[in-house]
Amino acid sequence: MHLPASTMSDTVLINESLLRWYRKERRDLPWRRSRDPYAIWVSEIMLQQTQVKTVLPYFERWMQAFPTVKDLATAPESKVLKLWEGLGYYSRARNLQKSAILVKDQYAGNLPSTRKEILALPGIGPYTAGAILSIAFGVRASVLDGNVKRVLSRLRRLKENGKTSKSEKRLWAEAERILPEKDVGDFNQALMELGAQVCIPQKPHCMICPLKKLCQAHLKADVQNFPPPKPQPVIKKIDVSAAVLFRRGKIYIQQRVEKGLMAGLWEFPGGKIEKNESPEKCIVREIREELGLEMTIEEKLIVIRHSYTQFRVTLHVFKGRLFPGKITPTACQNWKWVALKELEIYPFPSANVKIIKLLEKLSNAQEKE
Ligand code: SF4
Repeated sequence: MHLPASTMSDTVLINESLLRWYRKERRDLPWRRSRDPYAIWVSEIMLQQTQVKTVLPYFERWMQAFPTVKDLATAPESKVLKLWEGLGYYSRARNLQKSAILVKDQYAGNLPSTRKEILALPGIGPYTAGAILSIAFGVRASVLDGNVKRVLSRLRRLKENGKTSKSEKRLWAEAERILPEKDVGDFNQALMELGAQVCIPQKPHCMICPLKKLCQAHLKADVQNFPPPKPQPVIKKIDVSAAVLFRRGKIYIQQRVEKGLMAGLWEFPGGKIEKNESPEKCIVREIREELGLEMTIEEKLIVIRHSYTQFRVTLHVFKGRLFPGKITPTACQNWKWVALKELEIYPFPSANVKIIKLLEKLSNAQEKE
């Protein structure tokens, strides 16, 4: 039913315009073709701080390897981390598996559908809970991710960027205020889709926006002031040395401890370069400290620059040999000597994956000679 604008509340108009637009314009994404709460849950966790185009191949591979909660719950952790390799924020994968074990044991493999139960699962916060509840179960729950915050700030001309808890609260209240009585899953996805496709951070496409007649910032022609800018985080720069150590044709790798950054991933040994220390001196010292043995450097393999969210790493990679003797590793939970071909079984941080690719390239070139 199309009522004249004067008899319809602002919120109803927003609901209708956005839903109409979404049903016509939404991207065809694999998790949108599914009503399976597990698939929707996996997609929401993968999409946290990660773009759709990056997530797509990961989601497909994941759902093939672990099509059900039970498959994920019973998988070896190394396989779970391997499938997450390169996606970053590895605690998301570990929490997904921890939650899958709880869902299998406590709910017979079916994701619970109440806010309280879903929020009790590791790795599920208010945003993810709102997304799963509304999209998978049709429960009236709002969502507030970065895209939604930006749309709401502009739509209502709110000087809020969600940086403080007070600001976040105001945006949550607004997200709840505009939530329709029904079609909540589609409406929430429409809000997120609008933020991702139309109401983008720089130069939003207001002319094709379904909300242009209702958007207060657009009507006042001051969209550029909303949301107010967030202070930029300081990106730390770190210089690190790492060693690819050979012994009898095998390569030494070690597994990071269970807590902290990139917990449980495998890596080549090494560490931070100290002030006034050369990368060469650093690697010899690190190997002595971490493995209890001396090493000789054979050659510098590569310098890799890699950006993580909070820091930028310059990684100096050396090929080397350990002196004979027993290794006594001090900075890992597990270690192994593996053949080059076996490296692909283990999950590594992204910067280490670049080293493996180089080793494979060098080995292929040698074989051809
Ligand atoms: S009119 Fe422009 S600023 Fe307002 S919601 Fe649409 S794209 Fe965003």
